[in-house]
Amino acid sequence: MDSTIGSPEFADSFMVERLNEYGLAVRFQRAEGNKLYYVADDGTEVGVLDGVSGFGSLMFGHNNPEIVEHAKWVLDQQTPVHAQMGGYSYALNLATELNKIVRRELQTEDKFFAQFGNTGAEAVEIAIKHAELDRGIRIAGLKGGIEANIAQARAAVSEGATISEAAAAIAGGQDMDRLVAEVTRRNAETEARPAQFLALEGGFHGKLIASVQLTYNPGLRGPFRALAAQATFVPRDQPDMIAKVMEQDRAALLDLVVQDGVVDVVERDFPVFTAFLVEPIMGEAGIYPLTAEHAVALREACDTYGVPLIADEVQSGMGRSGTFLAGTQIGLKPDYIVLAKALGGGIAKLGVVLINEHIYHKPFEFIHSSTFAKDGFSTRIALKVLEMLEAEDGKAYKLAAERGAKAKATMEAIKADYPEIVKEIRGQGLMLGFEFHDQAGSASAKIREANETSVLPLRILGHLMRKHDFRIARTASGPWTMRFEPSIFLTDEEIATVDAAFRDVCEILRSEDVSRFV
Ligand code: PMP
Repeated sequence: MDSTIGSPEFADSFMVERLNEYGLAVRFQRAEGNKLYYVADDGTEVGVLDGVSGFGSLMFGHNNPEIVEHAKWVLDQQTPVHAQMGGYSYALNLATELNKIVRRELQTEDKFFAQFGNTGAEAVEIAIKHAELDRGIRIAGLKGGIEANIAQARAAVSEGATISEAAAAIAGGQDMDRLVAEVTRRNAETEARPAQFLALEGGFHGKLIASVQLTYNPGLRGPFRALAAQATFVPRDQPDMIAKVMEQDRAALLDLVVQDGVVDVVERDFPVFTAFLVEPIMGEAGIYPLTAEHAVALREACDTYGVPLIADEVQSGMGRSGTFLAGTQIGLKPDYIVLAKALGGGIAKLGVVLINEHIYHKPFEFIHSSTFAKDGFSTRIALKVLEMLEAEDGKAYKLAAERGAKAKATMEAIKADYPEIVKEIRGQGLMLGFEFHDQAGSASAKIREANETSVLPLRILGHLMRKHDFRIARTASGPWTMRFEPSIFLTDEEIATVDAAFRDVCEILRSEDVSRFV
């Protein structure tokens, strides 16, 4: 492979050094469709099939001509790009279009209010900020009701009401002042609990200070634990655990009620969890689609325990799965939907949270904002992206499903031919995972050594790149899973490249001759 980068001094020096070890650092000079191009030493341009595709941001490929043309037009129009607090913005049109699509897929008349950010992680943080605002408002309401009830109980006692046995046990006797003091003390203790999140083991929700605590990978999350609220992680393949985990950490505030001249103590559910975050297809975990069983278990448990459900569709959404939302295919009914990546058409940066009207707090519009969020350029690009997705009766979604199915069938055939090498093919539409078996049992000492140091998957990536001009990446928390997320314009020829490339790797691993890796 030519057109290498050398050793950059001021940025990415460590990263490029690592990539260079495996021949993965390349000076790409042009990008079009599913290809990235570099110029080889002899001056010829070499096209590399890009299976990474911007980690899911390129539904329509690199520099899609229609989107590029539109972007030029947007600028030629002298579109107000930064006209914050001006009242009208293209974000309003975008929110309307997003509502049409999302309401159709969720089969609901509910409205979804849009809050814009710049990236996926920021959009996740907007969602959790709103959910925490909502939790605070619910707690305040609960406390207000309890204070009113306590005042009523006091009045009743002054008029001769007695204190029940249970209440007297808390107060240490028939003493209303002590009862109120103890109830208040215990409630303050419950209220002082730090906010808590729920997420699935293996999940990925971003790398900012709050969102990284929802990202399972301990290497990414661990060093920053002290900076933000923590998540309880639920095993991803045990939907029945969802309600159990909520039950385990359940908490209640104490309230006083007066009935038939007796003051009694009752419990009111305290909202312990800010939100439950899920990816309908778990990307960085290793491409694991959730099931209809998950969707039911999540909705039921979230309703029972009063926990808002956030669908992080940053990677799985925007049509990649074959529907606009991947959650649609399993009947997921979230309260919040987070989108980013492909929303910007591969050239703009934009994230959005759609919040169900039933939990939306309008003052949030002044509480959260960002200079660049919902700028005129990105939102007009996103409007074009939605138009392209919806055109010709949703042809793009059908293409994602059909092209994805074809690529998946090709991968399944490889697995059938190399069952000891390929562990599993997973995914939906154009969000596919090709998982190799861990090679710890290989007869080759070199393979075992590479396996132990987790180097082997990187050598596989390097080989795919250098020998087959095929660029693909591992998922962040599933090192043996290669993620394939090309655009809807994936051709049969490109699928043949994937087929030949993966088969070659399988042959090498089967031969246990690692020296054959380029
Ligand atoms: N959520 C999910 C599901 C993601 O896959 C990602 C990015 N891989 C993010 C959030 C974060 O998005 P960004 O990189 O734009 O911050």
